[in-house]
Amino acid sequence: MWKKIINSFNKDFIKINMNRCLHTVNESSLCTLCEDICPQPALKIVNRKLQVDESQCSSCRLCVHVCPTEAIQKESEELEKYEQQIHERDTVYFACKEYGSKDTDVILPCVLSLTPEMLMISALHNKKVYIVWDEKLCLSCHSNWTQKRCLEWIGDWNHHQMSEEKVEIIANKKNKLGIKPKLSKTDILFMKNNETNSMSRDRSDEVSKAAKTNKLPLTERRRYLIAYIDKANKVGRIPKSISEKVGLVNIRVTDNCQLCFKCSTVCPTGALFHQDENGAKTLMFNPKSCINCDICEHSCIEIEKEPIKFEDIDAVSVLNKSIQY
Ligand code: SF4
Ligand code: SF4
Repeated sequence: MWKKIINSFNKDFIKINMNRCLHTVNESSLCTLCEDICPQPALKIVNRKLQVDESQCSSCRLCVHVCPTEAIQKESEELEKYEQQIHERDTVYFACKEYGSKDTDVILPCVLSLTPEMLMISALHNKKVYIVWDEKLCLSCHSNWTQKRCLEWIGDWNHHQMSEEKVEIIANKKNKLGIKPKLSKTDILFMKNNETNSMSRDRSDEVSKAAKTNKLPLTERRRYLIAYIDKANKVGRIPKSISEKVGLVNIRVTDNCQLCFKCSTVCPTGALFHQDENGAKTLMFNPKSCINCDICEHSCIEIEKEPIKFEDIDAVSVLNKSIQY
């Protein structure tokens, strides 16, 4: 009861846009990402519908950063806020709100909520990144995370970076001393205006145009990812742990595809789309729009997912085409 009363005064509840939740978009979705990460019994998928118990929510906002459709609101605002903070700093330290300081660190709800997109934003701004954590504190926290559980993907990230771009983990706050934490106001004034605007803007226009109007719009996370890939010019297979976290995948269809277009009809983002031109039917796939949800796979057994390479992300591919009459 006391918890309910305290929470009723808390204005920082998460807000869920149910229209963007995959369970609303398509009832075959089995997405449980937000439920899985929530340390409280505040989010539950019941009968394939997301239920929110605000009285149980501790406002940790871990769920905000895992939803592939940004149904849990404020993800876009959060990312722009992070970008601003990253931009203002000479060196970027990511730390949780229990351990970090607003003056020197970019504060996350928890180190568990660090995503590759946040490192991509840092790379877009050419910033050196450190992750600061304290094992004892983390193990006693309600999130109860361990470095192994949460930061394994950092190893894969580093594997694909130049040495100066590698992320370092600091397990002792004292090791931060002596590094200039923030740019001065004068430094920022000298920066070009276009640098201070979001780096995700204008880099994904063609993807937005390709998306069908009744589909979910491109998420802010994906805009940053596209901006990063445009800049990074990397080649080779994207490590599994990173592609899982950012939801990137390639789609193929088997030779049994009958071009019924069920998959493109149910695809919530327009990543799978079809064209019917001059008597020829074509099924196409745009990897930039795909969020690796589970909906197309549930709609048709001819859909196959496979790892994607950095250099293939730009390529809209033809999955199947009928013979033209
Ligand atoms: S993570 Fe997003 S899409 Fe998945 S169940 Fe939660 S709100 Fe719905
Ligand atoms: S192509 Fe498939 S996995 Fe990708 S967004 Fe569309 S339905 Fe989801």
